[in-house]
Amino acid sequence: MLGTADAQDFAAQRSRMVSEVEAMYAQTRAETGLARMSPAVRAALGKVERHRLVPPGEASRAYRNHPLPIGSGQTISQPYIVALSTDLLNVRPSDVILEVGTGSGYQAAVLAEIAAKVFSIEIIASLGRQAARRLEELGYRNVEVRIGDGYQGWPEKAPFDAIVVTAAAPSVPPALLEQLRPGGRMVIPVGSEGGMQYLELITRRADGGFDERRVLPVRFVPLVPGK
Ligand code: SAH
Repeated sequence: MLGTADAQDFAAQRSRMVSEVEAMYAQTRAETGLARMSPAVRAALGKVERHRLVPPGEASRAYRNHPLPIGSGQTISQPYIVALSTDLLNVRPSDVILEVGTGSGYQAAVLAEIAAKVFSIEIIASLGRQAARRLEELGYRNVEVRIGDGYQGWPEKAPFDAIVVTAAAPSVPPALLEQLRPGGRMVIPVGSEGGMQYLELITRRADGGFDERRVLPVRFVPLVPGK
């Protein structure tokens, strides 16, 4: 059981983290086109208990603006990247969202604070099951986690208003493009493992075509290729 003092300490750490993320927005505005965090994303970052989604041994480091190990050789993304991805998706309260790469469940929780429903796919069963359990403990009823290969998306739940991919692919998986609603947005790191990767923002036009913009150089774990 966490005492009140611990809870207050984590809350203070969380609000420091939000300030650090805000400062990074200011530093990267020329590249991202976003000078500030949106109020919705700021509120979500200020609320989600990141320390309860990382492995217990990492809880004291949970609010650093850094990636963290989450087991099975995977990492939880830096809070700044989670915030930026969420802002780039321009999430609305009625949105149905697909996430590829559940990992710790942190990005899913941030999305679930803003959107109506989040479908998240994780290929490593132990990670996916743990994230699902922790998200449930935290009270997120609008997140559904599935163990499987996100390369193929989640056709039964498509189309999506927004798609976020949290592992880097050499190119954008065609199934994910197909499952994006016209007017919808996708954020995905594109590039090779260990090589250059860029966070890309893809928008599906009303005519069904796609617009693509490179936002920022990034470093993500690789998306395991689909079979
Ligand atoms: N969004 C996560 C970040 C996890 S790191 C968070 O907030 O913590 C990326 C995750 O993508 C890893 O857990 C990895 O196992 C998963 N992954 C890699 N390839 C995948 C694939 N083809 N389908 C689904 N998940 C995949």
